[in-house]
Amino acid sequence: GNAQHWLVTGGAGFIGSHVVERLLRWGQRVTVLDDLSAGRKENLQLAATAAAEGGGTLRMAHFVEGDITDEQKCLHVIQGMDYVIHLAAMGSVPTSMEKPDQCHDTNVTGTLNMLLAAKKAAVKRFVFASSSAVYGDIVADAKVERNIGRPLSPYAASKHVNEIEAQCFFMAYGLQTVGLRFFNVFGPRQNPNGAYAAVIPQWISAMKAGRNVFINGDGENTRDFCFVRDVVQALLLAATTENEAAYGEVFNVGLGKATSLNELFAVLQTEVQSQTGVEVPGPVFREFRPGDIRHSCADVTKVKELLGFEPEYTVAKGLKETVAGY
Ligand code: NAD
Repeated sequence: GNAQHWLVTGGAGFIGSHVVERLLRWGQRVTVLDDLSAGRKENLQLAATAAAEGGGTLRMAHFVEGDITDEQKCLHVIQGMDYVIHLAAMGSVPTSMEKPDQCHDTNVTGTLNMLLAAKKAAVKRFVFASSSAVYGDIVADAKVERNIGRPLSPYAASKHVNEIEAQCFFMAYGLQTVGLRFFNVFGPRQNPNGAYAAVIPQWISAMKAGRNVFINGDGENTRDFCFVRDVVQALLLAATTENEAAYGEVFNVGLGKATSLNELFAVLQTEVQSQTGVEVPGPVFREFRPGDIRHSCADVTKVKELLGFEPEYTVAKGLKETVAGY
């Protein structure tokens, strides 16, 4: 058939494994480059199994263990690829605060290696993960692409550099890049462990184990929580769009709706109780974490207009599947 060959960097991670799942279900050929620093090979197994659900043939992604800071590795693995979905990164803001040099190596040098390899291999499209972190100290009801703030972490700075270099590779060399600024992505297979785990998997595992859930601050902080399958939709739209106005550009990807931590807690409490029968106690409030941003919400006008993005999951619907998946 006319299956295309996709390279997914970071494909053994949370978002990456959902991209792999969707591509396999669609009958595409998939290669994953991942150093397994945060991702797990088991995620690729789960992705393949889920993709074959309902009678499809079980096919795995081709897995290459490797580090994107290794330029030769990038050049080698990209040969024969049509599309690149570049998700490999140090994904944690606090880790980047502790190890800014390592953040630079992985996120800046690693992404440049992938851009150079993509240019040399003349791939059809290079889609990469940016982050709402680039909005930095901007205060707004909803963040709009053209107006970003000062970076508050090495992670934010690294994603900003990625955006500039990707735009340069389009302007200077004609490589069709598209960057997506993810807000707070959630869903099955997101890592619940470690001090810097994201709030949703952390809370679900605490609730299921009968442990207390802690809320830093008064719980009225808000975030734009977006279900991972909607994020995959945006990634594939970015990879396949023929709208030239999208090339070299960056797009917010979120629901375009703010949810407070208190609202999130209430939905999760109900969901965990009804799915497991565990009695979930109320949250324990702690001090605000210094540096925490009060509100973060995406303006999704641009991604809807240029890429045709339409999220299919409310926060509640996504949480139902997420709780079931742990
Ligand atoms: P994740 O940690 O689950 O996935 C990242 C993957 O990259 C992991 O499998 C890890 O092993 C791999 N990796 C890390 N360093 C590597 C290296 N040097 N070489 C090769 N592979 C390497 O995180 P995720 O949540 O799936 O995030 C994917 C992307 O989306 C990242 O770029 C992240 O910065 C971005 N992002 C995520 C969110 C979110 O809410 N999850 C929000 C904004 C941006």
